[in-house]
Amino acid sequence: MSLSPETASALSARRAAVAAIDAAATDLVALSAFVHDHPEVAMEERRASAAAADFLADRGFAVERGVANLPTAFAADVGSGAPRVAYLAEYDALPGLGHGCGHNLICIAALGAGVGLAAALPELPGGSVTVFGTPAEEAIGGKVLMADAGIFAGIDAALGAHPGTAEAVCPTVPGSGQALACQAVRIAFHGQAAHAAADPYNGINALNALIETFNGINALRQHVTTDARIHGVITHGGEAPNVVPAYAAGDFLIRAATRAGMERLVERVRGVAEGAALMTGARLEIGLPEPANADMVTNRILAARIKRNLDEVGLRLPEAKAAPALGSTDWGNVSYLVPSVETGFPIMDGVCTWHSHEVVEAAASPLGYGNTLLVAKALALTGVELLAEPTLLRAVKGEFARETAARSR
Ligand SMILES: [Zn+2]
Repeated sequence: MSLSPETASALSARRAAVAAIDAAATDLVALSAFVHDHPEVAMEERRASAAAADFLADRGFAVERGVANLPTAFAADVGSGAPRVAYLAEYDALPGLGHGCGHNLICIAALGAGVGLAAALPELPGGSVTVFGTPAEEAIGGKVLMADAGIFAGIDAALGAHPGTAEAVCPTVPGSGQALACQAVRIAFHGQAAHAAADPYNGINALNALIETFNGINALRQHVTTDARIHGVITHGGEAPNVVPAYAAGDFLIRAATRAGMERLVERVRGVAEGAALMTGARLEIGLPEPANADMVTNRILAARIKRNLDEVGLRLPEAKAAPALGSTDWGNVSYLVPSVETGFPIMDGVCTWHSHEVVEAAASPLGYGNTLLVAKALALTGVELLAEPTLLRAVKGEFARETAARSR
């Protein structure tokens, strides 16, 4: 049997991608260990982002540092023209904990995949690969700011991976791999101080307004869909019990399955706060301290290819199941612009609480590094397929258009 020229070159592209990741494996693990051992929190990832950008520059990527006016973000390109496949790296740590979310592994999954696909480019009909360094996933969400700055314009697909426990899956099934849209809301009330016993009738109680806001939100809960999550804390509740609080404030997070649904929910909470202002006479000040995270639109066609490639490289994950979306991620905003998959993968044999010391340990373990390198290969091989198979890219884009339109209603 003889192979068609396309099949033969696709096969040699796949071999080149895997061989390049094998050749870089020692350096990738050393880089990840360095990031792990020097944890830097959101927006302070100077050493990590410099090390990652240098790693790619040393391997022929054209690196632009500080994209989107974020000092610790970067974009590293190789190849020319479309299609453009992107891999998204993260490297921020958690305050007081270190790499309790394993972003040092997310970093080398993306770098390894980028190096792999770059090595395969000469065997492919064309296209390019970009590795993005995306800072501050745990705080302000670097991807949100990069998306708003237009950094992902022209990208055809964005791939990456997030470590997890033994229960991690590749999100191939509708309902798996979701993340909720999330908006931070700051609600403050301005009242009038007065002696709480001598002349309370001259006071306007800002704390009462805030408490009524909580009560109103609790009344709202019965009448929202089950995906909704509204939770808050009081950050200012007054100064002394004998003074009518002139100022009270709280921080809230409002989440829902889609960005459109979340925006409707934010308006309902605004209405509650306006009602509380009316009830008490306090003046409402409501603001959005951070841009919203959109929900994650996982591209199932692309996820199925990643799953197949994970199987091929020997990382067999349990089948994904439909599950309710839990947290939120700054990747959501990217996923409304570019067909996206962030696959999960296990870095431990058991199950534990995330953002914990167990994760810090697993993020620098032989199993953690080994599985991350396998994931890098699967992501690179999926990139090869995107560049080699125009029909695949068309199908991925078709699903993207349908799904983002449906969620925007
Ligand atoms: Zn994380």
